[in-house]
Amino acid sequence: MKVLVPIKRVVDFNVKVRVKADGSGIDLANVKMAMNPFDEIAVEEAVRQKEAGVVTEVVAVSCGVAACQETLRTALALGADRGVLVETDAELQPLAVAKLLKAIVGKEAPQLVILGKQAIDDDANQTGQMLAALLGWSQATFASKVVIDAAAGHVTVTREIDGGLETLELKLPAVVTTDLRLNEPRYATLPNIMKAKKKPLETLKPEDLGVDVSPRLTTLKVVEPPKRTAGVRVADVAQLIDKLKNEAKVIP
Ligand code: AMP
Repeated sequence: MKVLVPIKRVVDFNVKVRVKADGSGIDLANVKMAMNPFDEIAVEEAVRQKEAGVVTEVVAVSCGVAACQETLRTALALGADRGVLVETDAELQPLAVAKLLKAIVGKEAPQLVILGKQAIDDDANQTGQMLAALLGWSQATFASKVVIDAAAGHVTVTREIDGGLETLELKLPAVVTTDLRLNEPRYATLPNIMKAKKKPLETLKPEDLGVDVSPRLTTLKVVEPPKRTAGVRVADVAQLIDKLKNEAKVIP
């Protein structure tokens, strides 16, 4: 059974992002980029399922600029078998990515697509849901456990929801998105990084897939969050209670 894992190249989670002076977006010049952390979890899950003998092939796919190749190589070093880059310099919004992924699904015919629940740059949390809708496939978002029964043609997914866990059984083919507690991704070892250089990586363009990726939304303005003001140290509990009673206010 083949699994497709879409991975996004994003600003590394350790980087403090800066807004461009003209407010048109985030400054990406000389900024360290990395695989979206939820996508590392998706790759790890697919690779573990392969190691368990449930999955036969793991295909990683990334949509974006040529440098996404590096991110795909990371996925290959973590254990994915092949990479597909849909290369474009265009700004890609979740609907465009979902359409590209639908076209890749058409070519590759996977039984399962495992995406991250959200990309940490735009925090959209939309692509998996849109892909499932475009394909007309079952979906389970925010997975904390995935059990595939390929012979029976279903996957059982435990989801993290408000106040507890929900378990769903989906008919394959299906779309699953990962939550933080699904697994702890491995580190790529040096020998695997070397091996990854030889694994196949195909490059396509959106036009090859017949997909129009033009943005549907316009970003009007990006601003930094307001700076937090410094705290104050109170002398004793009585003063704290007095301040809570008389000064504290709810911030809207
Ligand atoms: P989002 O809906 O943007 O929060 O992204 C959710 C998930 O969709 C990510 O964790 C990735 O698995 C996938 N995804 C989003 N953008 C891309 C992209 N440009 N290339 C490949 N996968 C993507």
